[in-house]
Amino acid sequence: MSWRGIIEAYRPFLPVSNKTPVVTLNEGNTPLIFSPRLSEMVGREASVYIKYEGLNPTGSFKDRGMTVAISRAIEKGSRAVICASTGNTSAAAAAYAARAGIDCFVLLPKGKIARGKLAQALMCGAKVIALRGNFDDALRLVRDIGENYPVAIVNSTNQDRIEGQKTAAFEIVDVLGEAPDYHFLPVGNAGNITAYWKGYREWREAGRSKKLPKMMGFEAAGAAPIFHEKVIKKPDTVATAIRIGNPASWKQAEMAISQSHGLMDIVTDDEILAAQKWLAMNDGIFVEPASAASIAGLIKCLGKASCRKCPLAAELRASLLPKAVTIVCTVTGHGLKDPDVVDLHHLKPVTVWPSRDRVIKAMGLSL
Ligand SMILES: *Cc1c(COP(=O)(O)O)cnc(C)c1O
Repeated sequence: MSWRGIIEAYRPFLPVSNKTPVVTLNEGNTPLIFSPRLSEMVGREASVYIKYEGLNPTGSFKDRGMTVAISRAIEKGSRAVICASTGNTSAAAAAYAARAGIDCFVLLPKGKIARGKLAQALMCGAKVIALRGNFDDALRLVRDIGENYPVAIVNSTNQDRIEGQKTAAFEIVDVLGEAPDYHFLPVGNAGNITAYWKGYREWREAGRSKKLPKMMGFEAAGAAPIFHEKVIKKPDTVATAIRIGNPASWKQAEMAISQSHGLMDIVTDDEILAAQKWLAMNDGIFVEPASAASIAGLIKCLGKASCRKCPLAAELRASLLPKAVTIVCTVTGHGLKDPDVVDLHHLKPVTVWPSRDRVIKAMGLSL
C-alpha cells in the first residue's frame, strides 16, 4: 500500500483517535542514505547514514510535527493557528493550515528568514508578521496571544509537535533493524532532539530495538545557550534555523543528553559552511546551513581538536568503538530553502561569449 503519512503509519503511538480528522501531505518515510565517505572517515567497518529530512513535503522535518498539531487543533475546534518561526515552522504551518482550510498567523524576526521559507509561508496564504526583534521575542508574543485569543499555538511547545517528530526515530530503527550507536543532530529550540530521544525509547519499549543511541546535539557557536548554560540575548549564526538564544525544550534536551550518555557541543559558522559544502560536493546532498551542523559535529568529533567530554572521540582514542559502529546524522532541511547561501561559498557560474573556443576554455580543456 502507498505511504499515507506518519499518522496512518504510526497511529497507535500518536495522540490521535478515530475522531481525529487527519490533515496530511504524506510526510515522513524519508530516505536513510548510506554515506561511503563519511563511513570511511569513521572506520573501515563503520556505517554512517544520513536521514534526509529535506525530502518532506515542505522541505523540513517540521512537517512530521505539523500533521499531528494541525489535525489535533482541528479536532479541538480551532479555526486558526499561530507560530513563531525561524522559517521552517511557518512553511509547514502555512501548508498544513491551507490544506485544513484554516487561518495561519506567523511571527518571525524581520530580515532573518531564508528566502525560500518566507516564499512558502506567503504562497500558502499565511498572514506573515515580521517583528523588529528576534525569534525569542516572537515566541514570547505567540505564547501570550495563544493564551488570550482563540488561536492554537503550533510551536514545539505544543506536545503534539514532539509526538509527530519522534516518528523519524521509528523510521530509522525500522530501516536499520536496530537503533544506531550514535545519533547526531542540529539543536535550536531543542524540540527535535527531545522528540528523537522519546521515539528511540518508545520503540525499544515496543520491542523494536535492543539498544538506544547516544544523542549528540550541536548548537551553533553564536547561539549556544544549552552548551554555555545561559540564555544568549543576541544569538547570531549563519544557520538561521538554529539562531535561538532561549530554547523551549532546554530541560528535555539536557535530559536526552545525560540519559543517553551523549554530548551537547558547538560548531562554528565556518565549520557549518564547510560541512554544508562537503556534503553537497561529496554526497550530492544539498542541505540548508542549520542542517549541516550535524555533519560538522561528526567531523569535529573525528578530529583531534574534539573535546574530552565527547564519547565518540573517547571511544575512538581508546579503540573501544565497536568495529561495525552505526551512526545516523539527521539533516533537517533542504538546501533550496536558503539559496542565497551560495554567495557565502563564493560560487557562481562562469560567463563567456557563445563560441566553442570560449566554452572549451571555460571547461578547462585545452583547445
Ligand atoms: C527547526 C529546525 C532546526 C532546529 O530544530 P529544533 O527542534 O528547534 O532544535 C534545525 N534545522 C532546521 C532546518 C530546522 O527547520
